[in-house]
Amino acid sequence: MRLLLTNDDGIYAKGIEVLYEQLRRDHEVLVVAPETEQSAVGHAITLMDPLRVKPVNRNRAFFGYAVNGTPADCVKLAIKELMEERPDLVVSGINLGANVGINVIYSGTVSAATEGTVLGVPAIAISINSIRSPDFEPAAMFARSLARKVAANGLPLRTLLNVNVPAVPAGEIKGVRVTRQGVTRFVERFERRVDPRDSVYYWQCGSTPLLEEDGDTDGSALAAGYISITPIHYDLTNYAFLEPLREWVFPRVKSR
Ligand code: MN
Repeated sequence: MRLLLTNDDGIYAKGIEVLYEQLRRDHEVLVVAPETEQSAVGHAITLMDPLRVKPVNRNRAFFGYAVNGTPADCVKLAIKELMEERPDLVVSGINLGANVGINVIYSGTVSAATEGTVLGVPAIAISINSIRSPDFEPAAMFARSLARKVAANGLPLRTLLNVNVPAVPAGEIKGVRVTRQGVTRFVERFERRVDPRDSVYYWQCGSTPLLEEDGDTDGSALAAGYISITPIHYDLTNYAFLEPLREWVFPRVKSR
């Protein structure tokens, strides 16, 4: 297959390099990724500034193109301008830090994959549950096997696979669970500081504690030591509320 590989930790991150080395064994891979870290930018796109593209070498060989934009910008620019033919699959990762539950909304990693599906290309987002230099190899190998499965089976329209991998040696991963998106969320905290001119400022920080949740959720699978795969799409409609909403917007006149 022809693959477009991107991330949100930036083109110089370790996770994208390890993933590139695995995927290029089976596929033709083009890397187009942000020049600097773009974690938690969500699905933002750049309209007020020009986008510049720079070739990047790693290990003395051409690695890919760096873009001074967001992950979604990278996918758009790659598919519309940089690639001669459309990719068969967009892969985004390997992100440093889990993208489960509500965090999917903030995630640049997931948004890059979502952008692939917006443009009609199937996509995989892959993250590892650690923010401190984990071994990316097990996650990269899993992404490679999953890419093969997507090649064989395809994905439904506008659907991507959001994959989260425990940060443990391959032998300690308990297995794979197909999950739904849970309610795990980033628990924020603000550090109040004072700058040298005596003005107060705040620095947002926090973490994503994995909770034991009911049912087969992404976060609980990850907490239990499993790789989670969640099929997601960007339709935000609450279908169950369509009819009740119609009822109270257009109340029916009772007959007689
Ligand atoms: Mn990130």
